[in-house]
Amino acid sequence: MQLKKKLSARMRLKYVPPYAGAGEMPQPDMRVFTSAGQRIWAHSKILASASPVLESMIEKLQSTERKITISGVPFDAVHIFLQFMYFAKCSHEQMEKYGMHLFALSHVYSVPQLKQVCTRGLAKRLNVENVVDVLQLARLCDAPDLYLKCMRFLTNNYKAVEETEAWKFLQDHDPHLELQILQYIDETELRRKRTRRHRREQSLYMQLSEAMDCLEHLCSEGCTSVGPCDMDPNKHKGPCSKFSTCQGIQLLIKHFGACKKRGDGGCSRCTRMLQLFKLHSSICDEPDECTVPLCRQFKLKAQQDGRGNNDARWRLLVKKVVSARTISSLSRIALNPRRVRRFSL
Ligand SMILES: [Zn+2]
Ligand SMILES: [Zn+2]
Ligand SMILES: [Zn+2]
Repeated sequence: MQLKKKLSARMRLKYVPPYAGAGEMPQPDMRVFTSAGQRIWAHSKILASASPVLESMIEKLQSTERKITISGVPFDAVHIFLQFMYFAKCSHEQMEKYGMHLFALSHVYSVPQLKQVCTRGLAKRLNVENVVDVLQLARLCDAPDLYLKCMRFLTNNYKAVEETEAWKFLQDHDPHLELQILQYIDETELRRKRTRRHRREQSLYMQLSEAMDCLEHLCSEGCTSVGPCDMDPNKHKGPCSKFSTCQGIQLLIKHFGACKKRGDGGCSRCTRMLQLFKLHSSICDEPDECTVPLCRQFKLKAQQDGRGNNDARWRLLVKKVVSARTISSLSRIALNPRRVRRFSL
């Protein structure tokens, strides 16, 4: 009893009304009680204008008994909640300490401005220890953005979250939510794997498309050490803009020209070169005027073979390389607007 008295005396000393600092105010006309029976004086008009839920509660009050109770959260959280109704702001420290309580209050009493502040504040303060609680609260309080942020955080930090008490508690008491979270993590992992595979494939098609550009450039205009047969070797040009790829193709062409094992299929470099010639032939529109070796032969062979077993896979590869070429030529145009005119002529 003594202790209770001391505590309430200390609180009276510390107590600052929620409207302190709001300038000239009329006398407060109602009391808000908290769970522990503590009392906060406030202005019914301010509370009613900030929250439709409080408004309807206040409308039902008898004129003699103007009091309501906000329970389930600590006194300080109720105090900050009321303070927000006067000043529409709360401090970093208040958010740090009572963010979750304020979020729940903003939802229950329908104060959207505070709910937004709390959603941002809680999302910024997510950590391994609090993410499960915030996620549950976000679900209860119908806050899909915050819920999604928690799910992403959980997915990226699952190993650490799995060790927390909050996660163990969730496993014991809400297996349905646990299943939902695990499914989300699985789907995200699958999506990420698919994206990584897609990027790897795209990069391969881009490399092949560049190899095709270099092959055509070598067989029509020549580069540092390889050029068309009828070209004077002294007239070979300096390194082109795609020289790292071009040089590789030049080495392959030179090897192909000199390799003794070329015919029997026993040389992987020659096989690669043949594949590049074949790929070129598959995308070449002008085989009759084309200077790339074996272009016409591969075209003819493809017509004679018809549709073999591997045809579908090969055709898919050709299609992907053609679209990679289109993308790369379009991005070159986008980077160099002067080429747009040449392109449209
Ligand atoms: Zn070159
Ligand atoms: Zn070889
Ligand atoms: Zn060709």
